Parts: sequence; structure tokens; C-alpha cells
Amino acid sequence: MLSIRLWATRHARLLELTYQAVEPVIIKLHPLWKSVGYERAEKPIAKLEQLCKGLVFDCQMCGQCILSSTGMSCSMNCPKNIRNGPCGGVLQNGNCEVIPEQRCVWVEAWEGSQQMRADDAIQVVQLPLDHRLKGTSSWLRVARQTAQRHAAQRESKP
Ligand code: SF4
Repeated sequence: MLSIRLWATRHARLLELTYQAVEPVIIKLHPLWKSVGYERAEKPIAKLEQLCKGLVFDCQMCGQCILSSTGMSCSMNCPKNIRNGPCGGVLQNGNCEVIPEQRCVWVEAWEGSQQMRADDAIQVVQLPLDHRLKGTSSWLRVARQTAQRHAAQRESKP
């Protein structure tokens, strides 16, 4: 819902703090995900993620969440699906050229990002979207990738 989405960017710092509290828990649960099987956990966790993030961010479940780099404004709600925005068509009042009655997702992203501790993360160029990941859980991906990174670091220690 648009009003909740706009609320999210106005409270980007609060949501950043919330995610920073939740992320370590998801990562710590790696042994659980591993014992259940990441593939088996995928469906229920993706459903839960869709429910939570759908409500607050109008999440489209791209599977490669960049909310923490986009001021808590989901770039997939840009009608052009631009991952590195804005495009050149932002109206003078900050609205979208495709949906002129709506604020540009990327104007919102910039304003949200300026409230966040990681306020320069929006400058990082995002990779093109991998459409194979659509519908999958970004939370589980973060847990798995972090666990793999930690394991590799442990192995490389003398
Ligand atoms: S960036 Fe992707 S995963 Fe994150 S809220 Fe938007 S659609 Fe959902």
C-alpha cells in the first residue's frame, strides 16, 4: 500500500535498526536452516518474507533485496524496474513520469537513504537483476552466504 510504503522511507532509520537487529538472528539460525535443508525452508520463509515486506514495502520478491541501499524504498516499484535510478524523467515536483500522481521511487529512496547510518550505500552501483531468483527468499540467501563466508574465513586461517 502506497501510504505504508511512504511511511517506510520516512522511517528508514528505524527500519534500518530493526533489520540490523533481525539479520543476526536469521544468520544465527543457519544450523537450523541447514538441518531442515535450505531448499525445504525456502517456501515457508519466502512466504513469511513476502507477507512482512509486502505489507511494508510492497515487496515484489525479486530475491535480491537492496532495501538497505535504497533508503527502504523498493526499487522494484519503479514502473521501469530501474535498479540504479532515477531515470531522466523525474518530474519537477519529484513525481514519476510514468505515474505522474505518484512520487518517484528513487526520489523517495534518496530521501530515505539520507536518514540512514549507511547513507552512502545508495551510491553503490547495483548489479543487473537475476530473474532466476524471483520469488526466492533474500533472508535465506543472506544467511547462507554469510555462513559460507565465515566457513571460508575459518578454513583460510593457519
Ligand atoms: S528489493 Fe526485492 S526483495 Fe527487496 S523489497 Fe524490493 S522486491 Fe522485495
